[in-house]
Amino acid sequence: LKDSLEHSADRMGFEDAEFILIRYTDVPGRFLAKYIASDSGEYLRSGVAVDGSSVRGFAKIDESDLLLVPDKSTLRPAPISNYKVATVIADVHEGFGRGRLIRDPRHVSQLIEEHLAREGLSCQIGPEVECFVFDDIVFGGKSGPEILSAERAGKYHIRRKGGYDAPPFQDSLVELRFEVAEILKKNYLIKVTNLNHEVASSGQIEINFMHSTLTKAADNVQVYKDTVRNVAKKHGKIANFMPKPVFDESDPSSSESDNGSGMHVSTSLWDGASNIFYDASDGYAELSQTGRYFIGGILDHARSLAALVAPTVNSYHRMVPGFEAPIYAAWSRGNRSAVARVPVNDRNNVKSKRIEFRAPDPSANPYLAFSAIVAAGLDGMRKKIEPGDPVNEDIYKMPDHVRSSLGIRSLPGSLQESLEALKSDHDYLKPCFQGDLLETYVALKQEEIAYAGRSKERQFMLYYDV
Ligand code: GLN
Ligand code: MG
Ligand code: MG
Ligand code: MG
Repeated sequence: LKDSLEHSADRMGFEDAEFILIRYTDVPGRFLAKYIASDSGEYLRSGVAVDGSSVRGFAKIDESDLLLVPDKSTLRPAPISNYKVATVIADVHEGFGRGRLIRDPRHVSQLIEEHLAREGLSCQIGPEVECFVFDDIVFGGKSGPEILSAERAGKYHIRRKGGYDAPPFQDSLVELRFEVAEILKKNYLIKVTNLNHEVASSGQIEINFMHSTLTKAADNVQVYKDTVRNVAKKHGKIANFMPKPVFDESDPSSSESDNGSGMHVSTSLWDGASNIFYDASDGYAELSQTGRYFIGGILDHARSLAALVAPTVNSYHRMVPGFEAPIYAAWSRGNRSAVARVPVNDRNNVKSKRIEFRAPDPSANPYLAFSAIVAAGLDGMRKKIEPGDPVNEDIYKMPDHVRSSLGIRSLPGSLQESLEALKSDHDYLKPCFQGDLLETYVALKQEEIAYAGRSKERQFMLYYDV
């Protein structure tokens, strides 16, 4: 089966396609599109010009010509039925031979992978992207777009507690998930592992796919979100990747709110064929000292990392007690109130030893988020930062004085707080965030704060397509 799939992807070369869809990602994380007719295919070798001044975070108006240079290893048949369309992900270059664009998120992730390679290492990243699928009450039957408010979304929900539902009433999205899985497998060669309904009220799903190297994992997240959106649209529904679409404005932690959507990120580091996070002699979690230092780095930089992994105003409505979202910088094995976890091994002990970071949510730019997580972990390894003892009780319920006596810090309570933390703690990002990328990022995020503020409707508008 694998052979025939690879063959079908191979067969669709640039030459065969009538149209080519070129994808790339802006600084906030939107997966952008450029279409060309394939008889302009020869441009693909040198790159297709794009106006960088129209792409958020890319280039200034006075030096705006950029080139999209396709990464041929990502060439696939696009899942559009009636035309022969190929799709490919591109690296962004500056025009006139000035080299890679340092603000291209894919460049950031390639830099951290090169940095790892220089240390003789590689990494595997396994993202778990959650989202909601709402009935399409935004465009359905209306002449113009109407903003989906959480109240209206709530009407389409069947409120109940507990997750992992079965059809037909609480879970009506089984076919939709199968269709997504088929497209990922057939068109994109992405192998799906789990495809469940999630914990929130009717409409929240989580589809997991195989872990892979860092840039590839970020590409897969972009392709995955794109596929869910398109399949949902086909079914007359809207996929929503906001961290907390259903929340009580006056008190996001009240029972009027529902679980948010996370994008947990599992990381393992490899020296050749050996997983350096595994150590059988550790009786608590079979985690090596290197793994502990990696967690130490994550916890040490957790407040700054938040600005990159939970990067929207709405992210902080998710980061409240009671919904399995992390709010404290602590680690554990089975404790879902801790921000870092060493999950139970459900397959091969050695190979699947990994560290799950639970702060990320699907509004993050996956290239930037994954790179920052690995950079923080590597900093912990380099400085031998101990993460302290694991915390095995529900931290949500722990009295403040117990938490502070254990040295457990809170994660930021708002995007503004995260940005302040990022501004004062970013040296660990040096291997991958170059030039003025961080300043550009912070400026874009300040604009978002100014725009979205506490307005629920504006939060929906802003994150509708992230
Ligand atoms: N939805 C939760 C979050 O916001 C995670 C729930 C789970 O995967 N068990 O991170
Ligand atoms: Mg999961
Ligand atoms: Mg989940
Ligand atoms: Mg998880």
